[in-house]
Amino acid sequence: MGGRNPIEDLADLRHEFGEHGGVNMSVEASSTFTVIDPETMPDLFQGRAGPDKGCYLYGRHFNPTVYNLGRQMAALAGTDAAYCSASGMGAISAVMLCLCNAGDEIVASNAIYGGSFALLNDFLPAKSGIRTHFVDITDVDAVRDAITDKTRLVFTESVANPTLRLADIPRLSEVTRDRNIPLVVDNTFSPLILSPAALGADIVVHSITKFISGASDVIAGAICGSEEFIGELMDLHMGPLMLLGPTMDPNVASAISLRIPHLPLRMAAHSERALAIATRLQDLGLKVCYPGLETHPDFALFDELHCEEYGYGGVFSLDLGDEETAAAVMSCLQNEQRFGYLAVSLGYFDTLMSCSGSSTSSEMSEEDRDVAGISPGLVRISIGYTGTLEQRWMQLVEALRKVGVIRN
Ligand SMILES: *Cc1c(COP(=O)(O)O)cnc(C)c1O
Repeated sequence: MGGRNPIEDLADLRHEFGEHGGVNMSVEASSTFTVIDPETMPDLFQGRAGPDKGCYLYGRHFNPTVYNLGRQMAALAGTDAAYCSASGMGAISAVMLCLCNAGDEIVASNAIYGGSFALLNDFLPAKSGIRTHFVDITDVDAVRDAITDKTRLVFTESVANPTLRLADIPRLSEVTRDRNIPLVVDNTFSPLILSPAALGADIVVHSITKFISGASDVIAGAICGSEEFIGELMDLHMGPLMLLGPTMDPNVASAISLRIPHLPLRMAAHSERALAIATRLQDLGLKVCYPGLETHPDFALFDELHCEEYGYGGVFSLDLGDEETAAAVMSCLQNEQRFGYLAVSLGYFDTLMSCSGSSTSSEMSEEDRDVAGISPGLVRISIGYTGTLEQRWMQLVEALRKVGVIRN
């Protein structure tokens, strides 16, 4: 069985001309929009006229360029609609606040991005009394048991950060459908590779900042779901995207739309390189975690759910035991070998490395990290596709030798 491949849907959408017949879509820089006929204004305010009819009101509401990128994101995700936001966190927090009222509950995976964890664990309970029960998302029974009458959604990452455990989206969606609540999936780690909506997710969020951008030069996000849900997010009275204002800049939308066409090539290149290096590291006897390795607990499930063409993703982790060893290896890799950068984030064309426990997962307590399987020496590596495999492999081996992780 192979997963959905969005490439044809994406190609169809690119067949769109700019304002003057340009091969790229135009950038609409206006923050406000005229109505020719004054009667249209009340229609816009009451939601009877909108971007689907070519009517725009104000740039924090809908902007034509951002709207077009939203259509491309919907094609990528396989949802009816999508809209983009200023960041991945802007997208995630808008979804939570749209679905939950004060006192409601969320069931979430215990292995998620540190910012999402802080939002659910610290911010939302303090600001709104919205409480989250964290569970091991690979334990579907535990998820089912955690859902109460107050639960408004289940939230997980498709591929967890940084443990790389895979959520069984089809089985999770059976549970959420049964309880009549949406399954919200953060697919930041695996655009194209996994299509959560086709697998049963109701809402898909992305940090575009990572693989979809691919150049580590913009912060951006997207929410993909039904027309109705996107409409709710933009509601003039209650829509969190409209009222909290994490608005994407149209210039950013234009830049991102020019990168989506080569996202398939990039994802395949990241995955190919990651599989090669993870395999070699494992052959050296090191503790590597990568869903493309048979030793990964979710290898079989990943094989079943993913779209083969794009492989198993560009991120793997290497457990170097303790923080000091991890720091020494990363420092040598950056400062002597030029293998990559000691930096958080992922999806860049060059390699990015960080020690999860002391960086992107530091919002979690030591105990929570332990439960989620994040050891102190765990180095998360987002593999770039620059240079040659042999050149990068030599650099990596040199650094591991120098620090004494491997001998000879
Ligand atoms: C980076 C990241 C986010 C947050 O996205 P920003 O664009 O930085 O706001 C959310 N989820 C995951 C899995 C991420 O890696």
